[in-house]
Amino acid sequence: MVRHVREFAQAEIAPLAPQLDRKPSFPWKTLKMMGELGLLGILTPEAYGGAGLDMLSYVVLLEEISAADASHGTIMSVTNGLPQQLLLKYGSEAQRQRYLPKLASGEWVGSFCLSEPHCGSDAAAMTTRAKKVDGGYLLSGTKAWITSGGEAQLYLVLAKTEPSAGARGVSCFAVEKTEGMVFGKPEEKLGQHAAVTTTLTFDRCFVPEENLVGSEGQGFSMAMASLDSGRIGIAALAVGIARAAFEAARDYAGEREAFGRPIREFQGISFKLADMVTKLEAARLLTHRAAWQQDRARRVTREASMAKLFASEAAAEITHHAVQIFGGYGYSKDYPVERYFRDARVTEIYEGTSEIQRVVIGRQIFKERVR
Ligand SMILES: Cc1cc2nc3c(=O)[nH]c(=O)nc-3n(C[C@H](O)[C@H](O)[C@H](O)COP(=O)(O)OP(=O)(O)OC[C@H]3O[C@@H](n4cnc5c(N)ncnc54)[C@H](O)[C@@H]3O)c2cc1C
Repeated sequence: MVRHVREFAQAEIAPLAPQLDRKPSFPWKTLKMMGELGLLGILTPEAYGGAGLDMLSYVVLLEEISAADASHGTIMSVTNGLPQQLLLKYGSEAQRQRYLPKLASGEWVGSFCLSEPHCGSDAAAMTTRAKKVDGGYLLSGTKAWITSGGEAQLYLVLAKTEPSAGARGVSCFAVEKTEGMVFGKPEEKLGQHAAVTTTLTFDRCFVPEENLVGSEGQGFSMAMASLDSGRIGIAALAVGIARAAFEAARDYAGEREAFGRPIREFQGISFKLADMVTKLEAARLLTHRAAWQQDRARRVTREASMAKLFASEAAAEITHHAVQIFGGYGYSKDYPVERYFRDARVTEIYEGTSEIQRVVIGRQIFKERVR
C-alpha cells in the first residue's frame, strides 16, 4: 500500500503543488481521489467506512502525501485527526453513523475549532459560548485559524457551556455547516496556501442537543487527550516535507558543478547532507515510536510532544539547508525548496507551538519519573 500511495502522491499531487502555492484553491479533486484510496479515514474502522488501519500505517501514509504537497498533508491530518478521533472515542453511535462514513470517504472534510483570536496556547481562555436553550444550544463567538474553514462540512467546535468553570466548563459540538456560520476571508500565509485557513464566527447559531459530543464540561479534556494523535500526525507531516527537501538537495548536489566538480564533493556540502539525513531519520524514528506506542494503547503525551517538537524543528533546519545547497536557485520559485522552507515553518506552530511541546515534555518528565 505504501508504494501505491507514494506513486499516487508523486503522480497526482506533487505536480499540482507549485500551482496550488501560487494560485491557491481547495484541492477537492485530489481529496476525492484520496478518499477513494482510504486516505481520509485511515484510523476509522471499516464498519464506519474507514480503512481500519493503525497509527503506524497512518504516519507512514501521511509522510508520503506531505512529501508531495504539505497543504494536502495538513488537510489530511486535520480531517483524519481530531474530528474523526473525537467522534470515534466520545461520539454517540448516531453521530458516528451520521458523520464518519462521509468524512472517511472524502465526501465531507472535517475541521477542528479550538483556537480563538485572543488565545491559542492558552485555549481554556476561550470565550465562545454555548448557551442551553430548548432542544439544543446557541453558539456565539469567534474561532481563529480554522484549517479548511468554509470548505469543510463538519466542524468539531469547543465552546463554554459553563463560563465560570474554566477548562471544566468547555463542551464539544459537532456542527454541520449552516448559514448561521460566518467565515472570514482566507488568511494570507507564509506557506501551505491550499490548506485554507479562516476565522469562523457564530452568531447565536443553533446546534441541536444531539450534536453535543461526550457530555457537558468534558470537551477540553477530550480535546487534549486527542491532541496526542494530532501531534504525531504533524510530526509525520514535518518528516514528509523534510524528506522532499533532503531528496531535492541531494540530487542537486550531484548535478551542480563548481570549481570543476559536483558540489557534493565539497565537504561543506556533504556534511550538511549528512546532518540533514541523520535528523530526518531521527525525526522519523521518534514519530514511528510514538505511533507504535499509541497502537499499543499506551498514553503517549510525552512521546507525541517529543516527536512533534523534534520533527518540526528538524524540518525547519533541513529545509533551511536545502535552500542553501541550491545557492541562488534555492531562493527562486523555479525550484521547490523555497516552498518546502515556507511550508515547514508552521509545523513548529500549529497543534501546539514548540514552546508548548517543551512545557508538556517538561511536565511529563516529573509525572512519569523519566530517567
Ligand atoms: C496555518 C495554521 C493552521 C491552524 N489550524 C488550526 C485549526 O485547524 N484549529 C485550531 O483550533 N487552531 C488552528 N491553528 C492555531 C494554532 O494551533 C495556534 O496558532 C497555536 O496553538 C499558537 O497559538 P497562538 O497563535 O494564539 O499563539 P500564542 O498562544 O499567543 O503564543 C505566542 C507565543 O508565546 C509562546 N507561549 C505561549 N504560552 C507559553 C508558555 N506557557 N511558555 C512559553 N511560551 C509560551 C508561544 O509558544 C508563541 O511563541 C492554526 C494555526 C495556523 C498558523
